[in-house]
Amino acid sequence: MKKIFTIITILISLSLASIILIQISWIRNMVLLREEQIKHSVEEATNKVGEDLAARKGNYSSIGGLNRFSTPLDVLTPDMFRLPTIGQRFTAEEIKDKIQKAFNANNLKDVRFEFGISTLNYRGGIDYFEKRSDNFDAFYADTVHNFSYIAPLLAPTGTPGENLSPDEILIVVIPAVKGIVLQSLRWNIAMAVLFSVIIIAAFYLTVRTMLRQKKLGDIKNDFINNMTHEFKTPIATISLAVDAMRNEKVLQDRDKINYFNSIIKEENQRMNRQVETILKASQLERQEVDLNLKPLHAHEVIKEAAGNFTLQLEEKNGRAELLLNAQNDLVDADEIHFPNLINNLIDNAIKYSGENVPPLLRITTQSNTKNLEIIIEDNGIGMSRDTLKKIFERFYRAHTGNIHNVKGFGLGLSYVKTMVEAHGGRITVDSTLGKGSTFTIEIPLKKVSPVAGSKSTP
Ligand code: ADP
Repeated sequence: MKKIFTIITILISLSLASIILIQISWIRNMVLLREEQIKHSVEEATNKVGEDLAARKGNYSSIGGLNRFSTPLDVLTPDMFRLPTIGQRFTAEEIKDKIQKAFNANNLKDVRFEFGISTLNYRGGIDYFEKRSDNFDAFYADTVHNFSYIAPLLAPTGTPGENLSPDEILIVVIPAVKGIVLQSLRWNIAMAVLFSVIIIAAFYLTVRTMLRQKKLGDIKNDFINNMTHEFKTPIATISLAVDAMRNEKVLQDRDKINYFNSIIKEENQRMNRQVETILKASQLERQEVDLNLKPLHAHEVIKEAAGNFTLQLEEKNGRAELLLNAQNDLVDADEIHFPNLINNLIDNAIKYSGENVPPLLRITTQSNTKNLEIIIEDNGIGMSRDTLKKIFERFYRAHTGNIHNVKGFGLGLSYVKTMVEAHGGRITVDSTLGKGSTFTIEIPLKKVSPVAGSKSTP
């Protein structure tokens, strides 16, 4: 089962990783493709504008100052025979309009552009721009982020000035071309990311649920093991007592009958207590904590609880030390649950004492204006960090699985925590493996007016 689970997890993880990698490469290709597409459209549009601008380039016009038919010969200057450049024929506004129109026709409606027109010098270089858009210089210089395309403005073949007209070029720059590409693909990318996240989240939830289910299964098994173990002892004892009572000799002896009777009664009560514990746990699970709060002196409760364990402590040669230092020990607490939770903690402190180490139990109290702190310290087996994280979970037992000599259902501390919290308090624990544990409970003090305030001394 565990193997299958691991294999499934690995397989799904691998497939997920490859799906995501495929998506990434797919998006990358899409970006490249779209970039090429945009560049291609820009080139096409620019070429078209270039052709349009250059259409009348080889012809003389009056712009240069020459009118073949009406200009008197004596006013002719060499300048008048020079063919006008495109920069001279068109205003920047007209060029911009032409480019915009060509862009609109090429699906580049919202793409920003800058342009410049230059006459090439005799070395084929650019000296200056005759016409250019406002921000052309800044963007033209940055060739890393911007895409620029150069279209030659050649006079059409067959025009009078074909070979006389100066060489000119039109440069169109698209600022931040990557941004435009990403912008146009934003929905595709967002969808790809969204679905990847959904798949990962779903996978995570599935694995978590499977792990939880498995843990629950383990807990259930442990619980059943523990419970059978806990019930087996009293059942065996009762069975032995009943067998003994069948004995003729015993039947004659009233004292013996009473003795076995009391054993049966005691074991019966023990089983009853165990059933109670389990019932209580299931009640807590259903959040049915119904506290009956009354003013209680915590010191009294602690003293009584510690008293209950005198015999057990003596048996193990241990002792309890009470340092009830709190100035104020009056709390609003439930008469049954509050002593119960203190009992549970003391019980654990003794139960989990080290082998052949006399248990030393120290209970300290202290108070501030708001809270009463009860610190229950032992020198027992302690707990590892991992265990510490889980002890308040229902059914958790540090030595799960093996039937050990320390009995329990793993319900005690979850009960304690629920109860402390129901009283508006909190519980913390600190422990060192092999050295001992310290449980600290903080419970709000009963709010009393200064006049009616009651103080108890330990
Ligand atoms: P139970 O005692 O029935 O197993 P609890 O909920 O009281 O259940 O305790 C849960 C687990 O926490 C115990 O099984 C034990 O491993 C650990 N534990 C509790 N108290 C102590 C303690 N004082 N010292 C060491 N371990 C403890």
